[in-house]
Amino acid sequence: MQIYADNAATTALSPKVLEAMTPYLTEYFGNPSSLYRIGSVAKDAVEDARQTVANLIGAKNANEIYFTSGGSEADNWAIKGVCRMMAQKGKNHIITSKFEHHAVLHVCEMLTKEGFEVTYLDVYEDGLVRPEDVKNAIRENTALVTIMYANNEIGTVQPIAEIGKICREAGVLFHTDAVQAVCNVPINVEEECIDLMSLTAHKFHGPKGCGALYIRRGVRVQNLIDGGAQERSRRAGTENVAGIVGLAKAMELAIANMQERTERLTKMRNRLIEGLLNIERSRLNGSLTHRLPGNVNMCFEGIEGESLLLSLDLKGVSASSGSACTSGSLDPSHVLLSLGLPHEIAHGSLRLSFSDANTEEEIDYLLKVIPEIVEYLRSFSPLWDKIKSEE
Ligand SMILES: *Cc1c(COP(=O)(O)O)cnc(C)c1O
Repeated sequence: MQIYADNAATTALSPKVLEAMTPYLTEYFGNPSSLYRIGSVAKDAVEDARQTVANLIGAKNANEIYFTSGGSEADNWAIKGVCRMMAQKGKNHIITSKFEHHAVLHVCEMLTKEGFEVTYLDVYEDGLVRPEDVKNAIRENTALVTIMYANNEIGTVQPIAEIGKICREAGVLFHTDAVQAVCNVPINVEEECIDLMSLTAHKFHGPKGCGALYIRRGVRVQNLIDGGAQERSRRAGTENVAGIVGLAKAMELAIANMQERTERLTKMRNRLIEGLLNIERSRLNGSLTHRLPGNVNMCFEGIEGESLLLSLDLKGVSASSGSACTSGSLDPSHVLLSLGLPHEIAHGSLRLSFSDANTEEEIDYLLKVIPEIVEYLRSFSPLWDKIKSEE
């Protein structure tokens, strides 16, 4: 059996999305900035996509959507763009959390070299930021609060509307990296007081290399990429027309059946978690209830995440031990460490992330092979022997 269970890293392109994109890679290859027909058809497609994305996230106006090369660029632009603008007003403090994606954390770190001070909020053992912690961290000189909507490793969904309200009342701008949340939980930027929001197509069956940043009207943001007048002179570069069309189509499709998919995936997820918790010295990382429907993240003491992944690969299962960006390094995930897990436990983690394409039969198979692999790996693990001898 072949099982793809790494949908938090990326998803398969939907055939319907590919079909929607194809004309813009072939017949309508024109540059949207040009005046002849094959260009204007491409321009219309980009503007239709912008309207679709705006509608799907509850934005007031299509002009609040800016297309980017993906989630990383959207995060970089939002944070650098706002902070550099705010620095001119003497505001040089950022509030974020300890378990953000590196596209946020590394940008905040970089900004400390430009004179910014960063507050990293705790996410506690359940992997949830506390709105009152945000409130208490806000200062006179706070330029931006950036808290992710849903975590990419442990799938915990943050109380974004509450955080948004606190920021709005305090007059501080609020950005959220919603890359994992878009199409998986209902989002409305107006109701949730979100000022800037990042998303990317390849996490919901769209193409790689295309994302968007929502910037609420009136929010001042410095450009990240200067050049031509595309995206109303705020983000230069010839539009990725097919990518943009694909992003909007993928979003439309995924949001259309979100409720039904959520119910199905939540059931599958809970059955898998329940079964895997029968393994001795296993634990679920992050809250069970405030969790993306398709996310399972568990630790099995006494084994290395990498060995577990290799064994699973041999059984036809594609999974992850944390974020794709850190696998390959032997450092334990900063996300698991932020939950307060000790290093040796954080090493033995497994992330399985599911999409519409996964089935109950696959869950049956995982419930059979994972306990076998864990038992086998523990049978020659000195660490496991040590744990058992200390019982
Ligand atoms: C995947 C991911 C990103 C990066 O998006 P790209 O389009 O790959 O640049 C950023 N944030 C989160 C939470 C992600 O899961």
